[in-house]
Amino acid sequence: MEDFKHTNMKTLAIIGSGISGLAVANLLNKKYDIEIFEKESTPGGLIRCKTINDNLFHICGGHVFNTKREDVMNFFSEKFDFENDFIKSERNSCVFFENGEVTNPVKRSLFVKNTSWVEGVPYPIENHVHMLKPEIQHSFINDIEKITKSRHRREPKNFEEFLKWNFGETLYKIYFKPYNEKIWHTNLKKIPLSWLKGKLPMPSIEEILYNNFNHIKDKTFVHSNFWYPKKNGSQFIANKLAENQNINFNSEIKEIKKINNKWIINNKKFDIVFFCGNIKDLNNILQIEEFEKYKNFINNLEYHGTTTVFCEIDKNSYSWIYLPSTNYQSHRIICTGNFSPENNNTKQLTATIEFTDQISEEEILQNLSKMPLHPRYLTHEYHKYTYPIQNNDTREKIKEIKEELSQQQFYMSGRFVDWEYYNMDIAVGAVKDTIEKNKL
Ligand SMILES: Cc1cc2nc3c(=O)[nH]c(=O)nc-3n(C[C@H](O)[C@H](O)[C@H](O)COP(=O)(O)OP(=O)(O)OC[C@H]3O[C@@H](n4cnc5c(N)ncnc54)[C@H](O)[C@@H]3O)c2cc1C
Repeated sequence: MEDFKHTNMKTLAIIGSGISGLAVANLLNKKYDIEIFEKESTPGGLIRCKTINDNLFHICGGHVFNTKREDVMNFFSEKFDFENDFIKSERNSCVFFENGEVTNPVKRSLFVKNTSWVEGVPYPIENHVHMLKPEIQHSFINDIEKITKSRHRREPKNFEEFLKWNFGETLYKIYFKPYNEKIWHTNLKKIPLSWLKGKLPMPSIEEILYNNFNHIKDKTFVHSNFWYPKKNGSQFIANKLAENQNINFNSEIKEIKKINNKWIINNKKFDIVFFCGNIKDLNNILQIEEFEKYKNFINNLEYHGTTTVFCEIDKNSYSWIYLPSTNYQSHRIICTGNFSPENNNTKQLTATIEFTDQISEEEILQNLSKMPLHPRYLTHEYHKYTYPIQNNDTREKIKEIKEELSQQQFYMSGRFVDWEYYNMDIAVGAVKDTIEKNKL
């Protein structure tokens, strides 16, 4: 393989050094003369981490890695020494109940929340109904009867119907409804099912019953076990992929024009652009006529943001804790301190606590005081774009925009380009697909 670049190589500008932009650079840097523009001062986008009092703070979520795509695994295996630089863990997640829903005294795990008890049922909840109190179990058995009778009648049309028809009214009421309403801040009837396909568990009633009889945890979803860097969390992944790349940090691109068949970015000429930022920003950035007709559609794309609160919490063995309680607004605690011992500087365990959209520091502190595991506030960050929301026509329309722009050597991929609920691996997979499709 050649190690030097030919001077007659085509020039390619990448906007964004999140995992998508970094994947483009790593896949194409032997073939093109590449320059990356990144508005932040470090690489990684959503997977960036910061150090707070020597503790590792994932500024959004708590990023772990795994993939079901062989080509994506090969991409990562070429770049990373998984055996030495990563820890392989099994997911240990649970749902915390606070209203006495759990009765099995042997298996339940109890946590003190101020003066009361909080009870954890392993995730996914539908496999562990045997741990819930007898009234709930009876009601769930009635639900199963109803589900089985109404089977094959019609397909669910929205998220609420999907959840009720697959898991029954009882689990919907005690878990799926309150938990998902905290995430989506909307009536679950309004969430169309089209874009959730493939991302949601689809267990059959037979599987749910079998798993309950045998106390089986679900091992089929992508993060049921995962890789996590020993040091520096997902920032390690970003830094490694950014090594030897030509990145201009603190360079927010505000305008992209086309003159004489060349793209002009920051007064430089490029043959090709690969955009891995946010499609909404293109409405202001991209100065070409063909794009005008899409602006209205793009303006109307919906999304949520996340306030990520970094805390010390009481010790526990969990990776993710799901919180259906309506006593506070947070839906999830990610015990990032349990992912690697290197993530905590002190004997305390650190975690990120998530709230949908923006909330003030005062509200955060009020919420934390009501939450289990005694969270002690360290810092927080708000990110405006974290969860894209699709409508029925979003996918088709974005495909059309991408195809039209690709005729002009303007390519795009990423969570907020495709407006898809991508994980890191799927974002890399989407970049690979775009490169292959367009023979770049
Ligand atoms: C709460 C949460 C938890 C998650 N947990 C996981 C997990 O555990 N595992 C997993 O695999 N995935 C997880 N994901 C998904 C993962 O974060 C994303 O799929 C991935 O980070 C998307 O990368 P991206 O490069 O497409 O976008 P981004 O990370 O958003 O990158 C876009 C980059 O472009 C830059 N940029 C934007 N506009 C401009 C401009 N005009 N000029 C210059 N630069 C610009 C931005 O600064 C940013 O660096 C999670 C996501 C969320 C929201």
